[in-house]
Amino acid sequence: MKPAPFAYRRPETVEEALEALAREPGAKVLAGGQSLVPLLSMRLASPGTLVDVNRLPGLDQVTVSDDEVRVGALVRHADLLAHAPAGERQPLLAMALAHVAHATIRNRGTTVGSIVHADAAAEMPTVLALLGGSVEVASVRGRRTIAAADLFAGPLESTIAADELALSAGFPVLGPGEGVGFAEVARRHGDYALCGVAGLVRVEDDAVTEARLGYLSVADVPTVVDVTGCDPAEAAARALERIEPGDDIHASAAYRAQLVKVLTRRVLTAATDDARSRDARRTG
Ligand SMILES: Cc1cc2nc3c(=O)[nH]c(=O)nc-3n(C[C@H](O)[C@H](O)[C@H](O)COP(=O)(O)OP(=O)(O)OC[C@H]3O[C@@H](n4cnc5c(N)ncnc54)[C@H](O)[C@@H]3O)c2cc1C
Repeated sequence: MKPAPFAYRRPETVEEALEALAREPGAKVLAGGQSLVPLLSMRLASPGTLVDVNRLPGLDQVTVSDDEVRVGALVRHADLLAHAPAGERQPLLAMALAHVAHATIRNRGTTVGSIVHADAAAEMPTVLALLGGSVEVASVRGRRTIAAADLFAGPLESTIAADELALSAGFPVLGPGEGVGFAEVARRHGDYALCGVAGLVRVEDDAVTEARLGYLSVADVPTVVDVTGCDPAEAAARALERIEPGDDIHASAAYRAQLVKVLTRRVLTAATDDARSRDARRTG
């Protein structure tokens, strides 16, 4: 199918973009188009106006500070994946991005667009939620920062207002004693996962002091479960208290629950090993 007719705007400044979004209720931001264009083509979305933000200056930068990796709204998945300093300070980014779609889609799709799209089957919303990151948004009313914990409202639904433009997302860097892990099962590498798990573990004097796991593709929203004090089998049981995997054409609920168990054990073990080896290198 072809998209329903829409007006196309291509602003040259952030201010022009915000004015267009404010002026035209129901307008949609077009970033990489890798989620929006299929929705338009299938007529699952038919906005009156598209505001193409690809010409806006200053949004294609990755900035690495002592606290966070900040990713501008026009940074493509592939550019973030290839950004060595970002990968060094927060290795979970590259671990997860390697599973986001296929190369051609990563070349065009943006990491911030994926977060705004708020698909619970996507990797980067779960990574943002697990790390406790945030998104900076702007509108004609001003700017605000939304913590990841307040961002994901429901299936494909975020708390970003229709007239707001996301400018960037901030991912906290690894702290001392922290380690990460990631694993997913997909029918084919690069397809949406049947289930995926991201992990963040902190150790002190070799003992685990904090452990959190983030789940994708098993609930309506990215879901973070605190598993501090759990061994891997207990962690899987705790996750399944929070998550009730559903059925779809790709997998039964029982199979997804089995994936939750297997991936929970695998990721918790890997993240703990990662934290211990980083801590040993740091202190030794
Ligand atoms: C075949 C295929 C397979 C895929 N597989 C995966 C996968 O395995 N994992 C995965 O994570 N993703 C996958 N994707 C999606 C891909 O990662 C998209 O690039 C991403 O979800 C959206 O980014 P985008 O820049 O293309 O956004 P767009 O498609 O341009 O926009 C998506 C939505 O976000 C809004 N939006 C985008 N940017 C902003 C902004 N700055 N401010 C406000 N609103 C904004 C748009 O209005 C729209 O509603 C796949 C896509 C395809 C086509």
